Amino acid sequence: MKSHKYSDNQTLEKISGWAQELGFSDLAVADIESPKNLSLPIERYKNWIEQGLHGEMMYLKDTMIVRSKPDKLLKGVKRAIMVSMNYLPKDSTSDWIVKEINGLQKSEKANISVYARGKDYHRVMRKRLSKLAKKICLEIGSYGFRACVDSAPLLEVELAQKSGLGWRGKNTLLLKRNEGSFFFLGTLLTDMPLKITHGSSSNLCGSCTSCLDKCPTKAFVAPYVLDAKKCISYLTIENKGIIEEPLRHLIGNRVYGCDDCQLVCPWNKYAKLSTLEEFNVKNGLDDVSLINLFKWNEVQFMHNHVGSPILRIGYERWLRNIAIGLGNSANKKKEYGSVNNGAVSEIKKTLVTRLNENKPILRPHLDWAIAQCDK
Ligand code: SF4
Ligand code: SF4
Repeated sequence: MKSHKYSDNQTLEKISGWAQELGFSDLAVADIESPKNLSLPIERYKNWIEQGLHGEMMYLKDTMIVRSKPDKLLKGVKRAIMVSMNYLPKDSTSDWIVKEINGLQKSEKANISVYARGKDYHRVMRKRLSKLAKKICLEIGSYGFRACVDSAPLLEVELAQKSGLGWRGKNTLLLKRNEGSFFFLGTLLTDMPLKITHGSSSNLCGSCTSCLDKCPTKAFVAPYVLDAKKCISYLTIENKGIIEEPLRHLIGNRVYGCDDCQLVCPWNKYAKLSTLEEFNVKNGLDDVSLINLFKWNEVQFMHNHVGSPILRIGYERWLRNIAIGLGNSANKKKEYGSVNNGAVSEIKKTLVTRLNENKPILRPHLDWAIAQCDK
């Protein structure tokens, strides 16, 4: 494209530089003008929906048409500026993967997905994408922009792959060879005819199947195909009701989301730390006991999670997830013999305190967790 001041390459360099100043780690550009560019991913997406693998996430089905017509999101859209933002807390130590895996073994501790321990990335990224759009308008020219972070029906991973940012791994996430997958993806749609990037996005999963093998609920029906209904992230965040009993045992101490298919991915030894304070851990959520969290009242829940993505599941589902964790913890403690009887009694005592509450979603999980203590 031609701008008044810069060549196509210079324009891209400038925009990438501004993006880095705003905390994004990478930027690439995909062509979104030509519908044929999206036809194959849309076909795959349709198949996935037709098989019902999206579970209760009806918005994924309802927005299928828009996904194939990005023009509906921004009139005259030509490009998708794809950005990534690393989210590993900036004070993480070099052995963070080992610590995370060990944390999953400590059944009395709550495991909360790394991305959800700090501020809600939707807000953090959208704000910064809007700043980037303003900067471009100011420095280059007045174009149309729309910032999207999981908020608009787009096929972000496919667009990121097209832009050369990385490749879609067998765990369905975008992977980058120098950064793994512990980053968020954001999109800035624009009618600006920016130069398209391609990068080197060849698939480097090779013969590896670690993510498929390690998934606690066997949620992958095939490489690159996830049955969301079985995924712990879906179960603990998107599922608004009763979690089926056979799946409860497999959830372990995971209270909000699941990182297992990322933790085992060899490319994540290259994951980079965030540069932003926003993703620092709040409320000690990287090392907190299930019992402590279960004792929070609703006011504490609302107050402690201000600005956190966890707020979206609401207090009752939060308790539901912790109750499952406590039931599983009781089972684990019993595996290790009588020395843990005291721990099981304490778990039961904590669970029983909520038996009189009128919480129809929590109740069956509470009963189940208490039954695990009594078994
Ligand atoms: S997030 Fe956890 S449950 Fe979901 S697919 Fe990955 S490993 Fe399986
Ligand atoms: S664990 Fe292996 S197969 Fe899975 S996404 Fe990573 S490299 Fe690909």
